[in-house]
Amino acid sequence: MKDIENFLKENKITYKKYEPLAKYTTLKIGGKADFVVFPDEESIFKLIEIIKYENIPYYVIGGGSNLLIKDEGFRGVIINTRKMNRIDIEGFTVWSSAGVMLPRFIAFVLKRNLSGMEGLIGIPGTVGGAIIGNAGSFGYEISDWLEEVEIITDNVEIKTLKKQDITFQYRGSDLVKTWIIKSAKFNLREDDGESFNRMKAFLQKKKQTQPLGDYSAGCVFKNPKGQSAGYLIEKAGLKGFRVGDIVISPIHANYFINIGKGKSQDFLRLMDIVKEKVFKLFSIELEPEIKILEA
Ligand SMILES: Cc1cc2nc3c(=O)[nH]c(=O)nc-3n(C[C@H](O)[C@H](O)[C@H](O)COP(=O)(O)OP(=O)(O)OC[C@H]3O[C@@H](n4cnc5c(N)ncnc54)[C@H](O)[C@@H]3O)c2cc1C
Repeated sequence: MKDIENFLKENKITYKKYEPLAKYTTLKIGGKADFVVFPDEESIFKLIEIIKYENIPYYVIGGGSNLLIKDEGFRGVIINTRKMNRIDIEGFTVWSSAGVMLPRFIAFVLKRNLSGMEGLIGIPGTVGGAIIGNAGSFGYEISDWLEEVEIITDNVEIKTLKKQDITFQYRGSDLVKTWIIKSAKFNLREDDGESFNRMKAFLQKKKQTQPLGDYSAGCVFKNPKGQSAGYLIEKAGLKGFRVGDIVISPIHANYFINIGKGKSQDFLRLMDIVKEKVFKLFSIELEPEIKILEA
């Protein structure tokens, strides 16, 4: 770990040591990491090279909005992509670094009369995190207008994958867990004059039906085929059910809210209770949508 700290200092890469991770997640849960590092587009490659060379455990986070980090934290390096925040445009083509926040991306393209991304409004994540999980709503998915993804592989090579080389499905992709998304290229379409109104209507709907102002990690479980996880949890009588400071939202039962000093073990216990009850009542196995970072 000494070498990595020297490297960070020498290369003037911002980092924090023994840093609580709760502040980097929308759920506000997570113990300390040895290092949280904030590389930019230029320094990410060298950083990965040294991390791999030194065999240091690492994990990438974007907006931390789909993530449960354990109270034990993480022994190793957390790579936060927030400084990888460049956007470029030419005609209908938009290049975005992985750490660009989706609300900024949407505002950027709408302002330039491009449409296609408005359904992703209200998703508090980054472009990189959204591609990994194929984020979406209102019938839109980030993969719809994606053309290419630039990644750093396990062998520390930069590769460009065409959309057709990647399998996207509902809230998932086959991108390898240890790869790092560096940037992505999108091909959008001309605004039909209604994109802004559509975006406003989607946001309004979201605000009415989801607890956007609370500490959550978004939907905890994926919707089973033809079903809604929130509806099943509600039908199981679990709205408002609580373990410690983690509560099933009374607004939307697929959101678990941290109402104060929520612990990761309470969150996991609540997930188990919900899975068990839904299975008992409906014989449906709920699958997590959130990602869990093992300590
Ligand atoms: C209030 C609220 C509303 C939400 N609404 C929606 C919704 O409508 N639709 C929806 O799909 N989701 C929704 N979400 C969930 C979440 O915002 C999305 O899944 C989002 O795309 C996650 O992006 P992130 O940058 O926060 O990823 P993180 O939570 O930081 O990470 C998620 C995963 O992606 C990986 N990752 C992140 N960046 C990279 C990278 N550059 N390279 C490689 N791996 C990476 C991480 O390692 C982790 O495994 C919501 C969440 C909240 C809190």
